[in-house]
Amino acid sequence: LIKKKDKNDFKEVKIKDVIIGGQATTIIAGPCAIEGEEQILRIAETVKAMGGNILRGGAFKPRTSPYSFQGLGEEGLRLLKIAGDEVNLPVVSEVMDTREIEMTDKYVDIFQIGSRNMQNYSLLREVGKTNKPVILKRGMAASIEDWLLAAEYIASEGNLEIILCERGIRTFEGYTRNTLDLSVVPIIKEETFLPIIVDPSHGTGIRELILPMSMASIAAGADGLMIEIHPNPDKALSDGMQSLNFKDYEVLMKRIRSLSEYL
Ligand code: PEP
Ligand code: MN
Repeated sequence: LIKKKDKNDFKEVKIKDVIIGGQATTIIAGPCAIEGEEQILRIAETVKAMGGNILRGGAFKPRTSPYSFQGLGEEGLRLLKIAGDEVNLPVVSEVMDTREIEMTDKYVDIFQIGSRNMQNYSLLREVGKTNKPVILKRGMAASIEDWLLAAEYIASEGNLEIILCERGIRTFEGYTRNTLDLSVVPIIKEETFLPIIVDPSHGTGIRELILPMSMASIAAGADGLMIEIHPNPDKALSDGMQSLNFKDYEVLMKRIRSLSEYL
């Protein structure tokens, strides 16, 4: 269902007045995890002020260790919605479990399926039964074919509002957290009409690499970016190492907007 039919076949996913796909370069930014009302409100204002399009924030966090901060749960989703409404931006958050879809649906405009759940087929089928857009992150060990077939699970239930997100894969390289596979951008564009965005935060794990890899993603044809930002990254409860502060986020937005004008 998601195969490209001809050269000019591409889909625009619309969320309120935001478009992902086509001519747009859509920026999704926000904290790895929602930590409290003040934090998410300040971030929302910054995302908006710098021209970001969608606010992200994790409430149910798929942490590698069960002893790490797990997120604020439903309370986090409530705060995310308040912050999004405050600055008039759509919001996205990860759903990890079929039992949480109905509750999450009350707060978010877009569901995110995380890397660890890319092949959770019952979860894919359930979000496929909703009518909300779904960001499907690439599994950290998933081939392009695995990933597209995962998208097919969502589509097969009737939901074609799918945005693919490259977030890096596991390789032998230990310098970076993951190896960001930017070659998938033109390949995905060849194989499917669905939009593809890139997450250079998880894709590298290193905040200094976010700007250059963002530029490279857009140059490669990505429809947008997902970036982790935090008012004080060194104090973040999760993924501070790969989060930009507000100043660096501003620089990134300016560079991306001027690059997009050339494309
Ligand atoms: C995230 O975006 O917060 C996240 C956990 O990403 P991933 O699923 O790509 O690890
Ligand atoms: Mn994160």
